[in-house]
Amino acid sequence: MERLTGIGVSPGVAVGPALVAIQRTQVLRFPVGPDGVARELSALERARQRSHSQLEQIRRRIAAARGADLAAIFDAQLLMLDDPILVGRAAAVVRNERVNAEWAVQRALDEAAAVFDDIDDPYLHERKGDLHDVAGRLRMNLREDKGGARDRLQDLDAPCVLIADELTPSVVAQLDWTRIKGFATDAGSRTYHTAILARSLGVPAVVGLHDVSRRVPPGASVIIDGETGDVVIDPTPALWQEAEGRATVSRFAIVAPEESGPLQTMDGHPIVLHANIERSDDVPSALGAGAQGIGLYRSEFMLVGGPPDMAAEDEQYHVYRQLVERMEGRPVTIRTFDVDERQLARPLVDAALDARWFPEPQRSGHAGLRGVRFGLAQPRIFKTQLRALLRAAAHGPLRIMFPFVSSVQEVRDARTLLLEARQELTSRGIAVPEVPVGIMIEVPSAAFTASLLAREADFFTIGTNDLIQYTLAVDRTDDRVSNRYEPLHPAVLRLLRQVRRAATHEGIPVSVCGEMASDPLLLKLLIGCGLREFSMTPGAIPMARRVVRETSARQMVRVATRVLTLGTVEEIERYLEDEIAKNEVGSEG
Ligand code: PEP
Ligand code: MG
Repeated sequence: MERLTGIGVSPGVAVGPALVAIQRTQVLRFPVGPDGVARELSALERARQRSHSQLEQIRRRIAAARGADLAAIFDAQLLMLDDPILVGRAAAVVRNERVNAEWAVQRALDEAAAVFDDIDDPYLHERKGDLHDVAGRLRMNLREDKGGARDRLQDLDAPCVLIADELTPSVVAQLDWTRIKGFATDAGSRTYHTAILARSLGVPAVVGLHDVSRRVPPGASVIIDGETGDVVIDPTPALWQEAEGRATVSRFAIVAPEESGPLQTMDGHPIVLHANIERSDDVPSALGAGAQGIGLYRSEFMLVGGPPDMAAEDEQYHVYRQLVERMEGRPVTIRTFDVDERQLARPLVDAALDARWFPEPQRSGHAGLRGVRFGLAQPRIFKTQLRALLRAAAHGPLRIMFPFVSSVQEVRDARTLLLEARQELTSRGIAVPEVPVGIMIEVPSAAFTASLLAREADFFTIGTNDLIQYTLAVDRTDDRVSNRYEPLHPAVLRLLRQVRRAATHEGIPVSVCGEMASDPLLLKLLIGCGLREFSMTPGAIPMARRVVRETSARQMVRVATRVLTLGTVEEIERYLEDEIAKNEVGSEG
């Protein structure tokens, strides 16, 4: 038995086996039973075989297009895939520790990468990238096989307690809180979102435990006491029994709501909630969660693992058309490929794989030839996509959106290519409807010139994930500064207000599609800043609906006005927490 003490941020007691989620690598670690071990091992083998044939296919294609030298890169990857260092070691981890295969692959990768690090040889250092690629491909194939974190959670026999290094809103939103009795995290002092989130979910929570995610073995029995801040690992039977008697029944559970109709704040302001998705297969979960449309379709994901001609116009057209049709008349905003220069050196189909493998902050951490810049530099690829989009627009309300815009000139140039794409279709005898063309505001230069850009675009979507990191010059992958990634930084809030005002002034719609919108507290503040449309990961929508209904827009406008006069993140956080807490007490009373 071991007792750790952190900061209790949401009262109540939770008991159960531990589900350990490590966000750093975006991999969930969870225990599997004896049957589960065999299942995980065969999933691992299937993923290996699938990865093998994908790599073979890529190698053949590259050999044909670019010659044998370049293709040899993939020989190295094939060898790694068959080397016991990765898959063999992962299988051993599954067997010995009785954990899921995806986690085991991550563990094998970390160990192998550490060995490469220790060897002072530039050639081997370069091979580390290949190792990451191969492990990424394996994990991708494992995920395809077994579904997302939420599906995996359904495999657990009993409800559990969640132990995590940190909890970001998007992960919280993916989880099925009917099965999670409470949570404990390494991170967090009085971190606003974790505390508010726990209270809003009505689940016991302890934060600021520093290394609880390393100390708790997956599946271990854990007691979380959100009042005292105690977390007990492997308690005595007597303690367990006593805690079970005090265990809290969660006040709320986030489950997909049955309702999905129009939504408004407590004081009657209409709010629109759309979903961010990557595949048209995500449509049922978006609709099930209550999405009123698709606010961001990350089209680059469409290229993942597909056949080489996946990016052909007809293939794309079918994907977009299917998406629009599945949404049955609801609006769909498709973002053109947001791939970057590192990926340009490789064939496009493989390029997009990187986007899938890298954790979110990492893949959006590049300021090179990406987004609309990529499109302008590769007009053939860009126009192929634009033609496919224009054709699909005949089947439903589709909007085209350019990512990573940083100047008016780029928008004009992109629109010129769009016009050419339209003319090419017309000359083929294909009629094309009018399609709204919007831009993502995710680069500070775009935010600063929002009033000029608003005259060039039919709508704005604010991508706070990138906007925050570029405004604050914080690379989220760099541990030394990642704690400075502050959505509540006064600079970020001022920019958001400026963009919203520019859009209102020109009479164009503006929405927010970054992760910021799926944090309950920040969502309230965004409503206070005058924003009314949001797009988020489907899992976050049920919670956001509840937050919206419990929010007074009038109160939040007053709060936001005051927030914008405060100088530090800490002051803003404290003020917001106090105001929201007053409101919570007020509405309960
Ligand atoms: C963003 O930058 O906020 C955004 C939604 O785009 P992505 O996360 O795909 O970079
Ligand atoms: Mg972005």
